[in-house]
Amino acid sequence: MTTINDFQKKLLSVITPVYDEEESIELFLQNIVPVLKNINSIDYEIVFVDDGSKDKTLQILSQEAAKDERIKVLSFSRNFGKEKAMYCGLEFCKGDGAVIIDVDLQDPVELISSFVEKWREGYHNVYGIRTDRSSDTIVKRFTANLFYKFINRITDTPVYRNVGDFRLIDRRIIDSIKKIGDKELFMKYIFNWAGFNSIGIGYVRNKRLKGKTKFNYWRLWNFALDGIIASSTIPLRIWTYAGCIISIVGILRAAHIAIRTLIFGVDSPGYASLFCAIAFLGGIQLISVGILGEYLGRLVKESKNRPLYILKTQINV
Ligand code: UDP
Ligand code: MG
Repeated sequence: MTTINDFQKKLLSVITPVYDEEESIELFLQNIVPVLKNINSIDYEIVFVDDGSKDKTLQILSQEAAKDERIKVLSFSRNFGKEKAMYCGLEFCKGDGAVIIDVDLQDPVELISSFVEKWREGYHNVYGIRTDRSSDTIVKRFTANLFYKFINRITDTPVYRNVGDFRLIDRRIIDSIKKIGDKELFMKYIFNWAGFNSIGIGYVRNKRLKGKTKFNYWRLWNFALDGIIASSTIPLRIWTYAGCIISIVGILRAAHIAIRTLIFGVDSPGYASLFCAIAFLGGIQLISVGILGEYLGRLVKESKNRPLYILKTQINV
């Protein structure tokens, strides 16, 4: 009979992006280390990716890394964003699997043991589902809902609702993700893009213990747009259909006017309806050009082929 102790010892990497989090790091370590030590047959490493912090984050991380070489630090030369920080962590981690977790303890560290159980059952992508979002504002919940509805209509891979980055992924997924050469990363999509067996575990998302959120509404809005454009080209196709429909309506209207003129003679059409039609069409055209521009902009970024991030310091790596 197999017991849990018979499992082959595995290395679990914990990847934690941090940006101006001097208040949270020690508390995070105090909470997570006992949990990791308690999981049977697991060795661990904690990979902090400092996303260009301007406060004492790097200093605190260096002190912690000096005390324990299982704590690794990768530090960016400036703020490149959480997506790149997570990607960097995945590139450098050595684990047979990796847990991605925020430093602010909004993601409950105890859940990691349940993640590991599912991983041992054979799941490659074990993600946390936020069953209770009461710690988020009503506006955030409402807009998040809209976003998930929309993006799931237009992508080929599901982007699960109420699922963040908090999850455990197996080495096979990490290696698949490392093959992706995209410059614009939307990790919530990319984690699922790799496929394999996935399963969700519900949890209640806590309030941030220390410090402030780094994502204001403007940043979230841009993040949502980037996510949509990075994961689907359907917004481009919409304009083909919109163009067809508008042209058909235009042709029908032209025929209507021509026939009416033949039967009833010439009348002078109103200025208002003409103005409305021009304004409407002008608006539609600008929106479609704007969307084209969004995709073109991404293409320019991809073709420049710049590195995703620049490292300033590496400790214990
Ligand atoms: N973070 C980061 N780079 C950024 C913004 C955030 O590495 O540009 C990190 C941050 O330190 C935290 C995690 O990403 O560990 C989640 O950020 P936050 O708690 O501000 O987001 P929220 O939970 O409000 O969505
Ligand atoms: Mg948070």
